[in-house]
Amino acid sequence: MEIRSTIAGSLPKPHWLAEPEKLWPAWRLDGPALADAKRDATRIALFEQDRAGITCVTDGEQSRRHFVHGFLAHVEGVDFTKMVRRGIRADRYEAEVPTITGPVRRVGPVHLDEATFARRNTKRRLKITLPGPMTIADTVYDAHYGDRRALAMAFAALLREEIAALESVGVYTVQLDEPALNSYLDDAEAWGMQAIDAAVRDAMCRTAVHVCYGYGVAANIEWKRSLGASWDQYERLLPLLSKTSIDEISIELAGSRVPPGVLAEVKGKDIALGVIDVATDRVETPEDVVATINIGRDYLPDERIIASTNCGMAPMRRDIAYAKLQALGAGVALANA
Ligand code: ZN
Repeated sequence: MEIRSTIAGSLPKPHWLAEPEKLWPAWRLDGPALADAKRDATRIALFEQDRAGITCVTDGEQSRRHFVHGFLAHVEGVDFTKMVRRGIRADRYEAEVPTITGPVRRVGPVHLDEATFARRNTKRRLKITLPGPMTIADTVYDAHYGDRRALAMAFAALLREEIAALESVGVYTVQLDEPALNSYLDDAEAWGMQAIDAAVRDAMCRTAVHVCYGYGVAANIEWKRSLGASWDQYERLLPLLSKTSIDEISIELAGSRVPPGVLAEVKGKDIALGVIDVATDRVETPEDVVATINIGRDYLPDERIIASTNCGMAPMRRDIAYAKLQALGAGVALANA
């Protein structure tokens, strides 16, 4: 079987939709015009992935302002009028986050309309991303549960409901984005895996977990510098993730200091291998992509490798992100040739 391809999830939004190169961009439009513009941007994201030959495409997350808060906007018990500034990802940076004021309950499907629209506009396999339970718990201010594990488990139940809705419209893969796992390794072991398993329990679609070192923004680049010559977080996480019921683990490799030997720790799962670095504007050549894929090939057979981006490309320059997308597709074609 050939090496497959996907992207971590997000692509930059066009400037006519939202402020460019920002993590929490403001929308440029509102009402029906905004809804229409989101759909047009989704069409472009799908078209560009199709043109690059990506096996499993996403909607580019064109309809959400931020990957965590987009989900929370549809959850009861989350109060966006009570924003609190707090350190997140073990105080790596500060963010304005909403307050949990009561039991959380999903008021209805969150990403169903976007998923349905994307499903109708591509013939390729479709992946929809959702924030993982630990990452959600780390991106809110809790004034109700008083315990991070309880909060994460409450969100895991809501994620399970959302996954059922997404399966029903033909979504091929649902991916939980769990960058927080890399910041809280002890919690990951104590309850993070349990929360992931609860979120994907008995899912009919394919399930994935994405664990990365974050977007290519200044705070992350600084943090990565502090991690030393060899990043050992995956060494601890990959054996734990291998024991969960998820099908696919998405990690970063390109341009990182992740020791490739950690790939030997992945048992019985497919690996979405980051072969495109989102922390640099330098566009990889197809040969660069092949070289990173070949590192993966030292540990995994082709049928278990899915070439991907290290992380979402939302805050990047749009022309650069699309050039990287085409490099990804060309590199995978070359690797399979
Ligand atoms: Zn990521």
